[in-house]
Amino acid sequence: MQLGGLHHVTAVTTEASENVAFYTEVLGLRLVKKTVNQDDVSAYHLFYGDELGRPGTEVTFFDWPHLRIAPNHAGAGEVSATELRVTGREALDFWTERLAEFGVEHGGVEERGGRGLIAFTDPEGQRLRLVDDGGDNKVAGGIPWEGSPVPRVAGIRGLGAVELMVRDLAPTAWVLSEVLGFRKVDEYERGDERAVVFEVGPGGPGSEVLVVERPEAPVARLGRGGVHHVAFRTPDDEEHAAWRERVRSFGLGVTPQIDRFYFRSIYFREPGGVLFEIATDGPGFATDEDANHLGERLSLPPFLEPRREAIEAGLEPIAAR
Ligand code: ZN
Repeated sequence: MQLGGLHHVTAVTTEASENVAFYTEVLGLRLVKKTVNQDDVSAYHLFYGDELGRPGTEVTFFDWPHLRIAPNHAGAGEVSATELRVTGREALDFWTERLAEFGVEHGGVEERGGRGLIAFTDPEGQRLRLVDDGGDNKVAGGIPWEGSPVPRVAGIRGLGAVELMVRDLAPTAWVLSEVLGFRKVDEYERGDERAVVFEVGPGGPGSEVLVVERPEAPVARLGRGGVHHVAFRTPDDEEHAAWRERVRSFGLGVTPQIDRFYFRSIYFREPGGVLFEIATDGPGFATDEDANHLGERLSLPPFLEPRREAIEAGLEPIAAR
């Protein structure tokens, strides 16, 4: 039993309309689902991804306007950066120009861990990096949507890696390697920090977790522009149940299986403070919408459908541009 790589990253926005504009019009992802937070139906839950929002290509956001005055406090115990994969140096060159065109500040192409990347933030300070995956397809990249404003050849193919920041590497490394089956593949110094690269399952881009150890870091506090959790892939319910049992057997508190309708989830917090999820690959986003019309209207899971009118009335419409 092996995890299939990264499934999705869920982050916090406080400006749904601005968020949709940035991730679709600037980054060229497809808004594959517009739904509500199942635990708080007054909040949008927005899903972006490749043409179908395949697992491994998803970046999702809770819209929490009450956090407008509470920016994320970076530190230990959080996902400190999310890497999005593109293929080839030419794609990175394309992106340096495109980001500049949209007024997104970035430091140009850097080399890190043997790969080219561009670091930047979204309008709310979400820390992102575009990384050249070198065409590595051990974890198959997604297929950028043909309706994207970004040419497919330079398009984002999904998640490359997530970076976690912790004060103490050992407990987090233990969960990754002993509990979840990650393998340590690289280690390097970055200023006064130590960074260790782990991969899981097929390995390579799409399967990587970079853990940065900074003993003096303050504890992160989640706010706008921060990441809520990262999810890893498992193919089906049978393995999902086995993962739950395995996580539990190591003494980590884990939730029951929760049906998120587009996939099923379990959650647990690793000792460094980062919330981990394991999610099933299916059933996917075309389960309640035609693949040609994903994300165009508000989708509600069946148990919320009877309350549609009240739920829609409680949501600020997302501005069309
Ligand atoms: Zn999630």
